[in-house]
Amino acid sequence: MDRDPDVLVVGGGPAGRALAAAAGERGLRTVLVDPAPEAPWRATYGCWAHELPAWLPSSAVAARASGCAIALSEHELGWEYAVLDVPALRAHLDGELARHGVRAHAGRVAGWAGGAVRLAGGGLLRAAVVVDAGGHRQPLRCGDRHRHPAEQTAAGVVVGEAAATPLVTPGRALFMDWRPDHGEDGPATFLYGIPLGGGAVLLEETSLVARPGLPLPVLRRRLRARLARHGVVVPDGAATESVRFPVDSPRHATPGVLGFGAAAPLVHPASGFSVATSLRLAPAVADAVAAGLASGPDRALAAARAVVWPRGARAVHRFRRIGLEALLRMPPAEVPAFFEAFLGLPEHHRWCYLVGRADVRGTAAGMRALWARAGWRMRGRLIAPALLPRTGV
Ligand SMILES: Cc1cc2nc3c(=O)[nH]c(=O)nc-3n(C[C@H](O)[C@H](O)[C@H](O)COP(=O)(O)OP(=O)(O)OC[C@H]3O[C@@H](n4cnc5c(N)ncnc54)[C@H](O)[C@@H]3O)c2cc1C
Repeated sequence: MDRDPDVLVVGGGPAGRALAAAAGERGLRTVLVDPAPEAPWRATYGCWAHELPAWLPSSAVAARASGCAIALSEHELGWEYAVLDVPALRAHLDGELARHGVRAHAGRVAGWAGGAVRLAGGGLLRAAVVVDAGGHRQPLRCGDRHRHPAEQTAAGVVVGEAAATPLVTPGRALFMDWRPDHGEDGPATFLYGIPLGGGAVLLEETSLVARPGLPLPVLRRRLRARLARHGVVVPDGAATESVRFPVDSPRHATPGVLGFGAAAPLVHPASGFSVATSLRLAPAVADAVAAGLASGPDRALAAARAVVWPRGARAVHRFRRIGLEALLRMPPAEVPAFFEAFLGLPEHHRWCYLVGRADVRGTAAGMRALWARAGWRMRGRLIAPALLPRTGV
């Protein structure tokens, strides 16, 4: 490398690739570092269809479906769910990286010291703006980690549309089904059922959040029992998916580094979603870096941070963390009633809570509306985490 690049992005997941491509598109000399830059992505990514950025080609969406959720009763969500075609998304972003001359460097980052990125095999990388898009591991983040993060875990299986029909009507998405049809006591889990396109449906037993995450063998056992109860036959050799990631990673505030994607963390603590937010924010972050660099790297970093964490987003993040703590403390038997109250809110409140990442007034109004619907016991559950220290971190 002759001259330090303008932007160094650590991590080649959806967030890192989207940001590196956007930076390259703006003429910024950009380098991406990942231990295995060519490795395919394995997860199934979904989001609310309205969240998809305009720049995303329609080929990157595998399926769209209107959705419902079941708590104590069934509720229409009122908006569409989109499942990404992960290989197509990846191919699109890789094409953009190549088109804009973004170089991918194979290397594992070991940390951040003295204004430089330390590579595990030795060597330092520098850039005007350094981005940690290394996912929940936050490889450039300095400071303590949670010993016991709150995690979302899930175990899924892919079946044909016809086989899934007892649980998921063809062309529809089942965002959550809290009925305890797995037949077990203990932590509350729900079924997530989404069309993948091409007549396939992913059925996933999900623990929305637990600290530590509910073990995958428990989720696999519950999934088998739930499917058997509904007469869903899983063919031999059916594809499976295992999910485990933290939803309460600490805010990335390492001086000199921008945290982006799950490393920021842009993860919504209540849904676990971050991919659509990262894809949507990438061009605006790249714009801020490009404009700020004229006044120097510090200005560029500050401008990018202001896009990722505007004041409203910091406040909403704190609200959402309180909601997360309420869920973590809630006795399992009361969880479906909590979602019954949430799902019964007017659509604009639910929507704002799920996607309004910088809408403080809207989020607060949604929380007030939930409070008004809740009984006294539920109110106690909702207020406790705002007053008490966090559990078992
Ligand atoms: C199975 C599964 C399904 C999921 N489904 C959804 C979903 O439907 N919707 C949604 O929004 N979210 C989903 N998530 C959660 C989360 O949003 C994803 O994990 C998403 O991949 C985050 O994107 P990212 O680019 O921020 O981080 P990642 O995809 O985790 O990418 C981080 C990259 O950084 C690299 N890296 C890590 N450490 C280092 C290091 N030391 N040096 C250099 N590079 C490093 C990794 O190799 C990786 O390529 C899912 C997660 C899983 C596991």
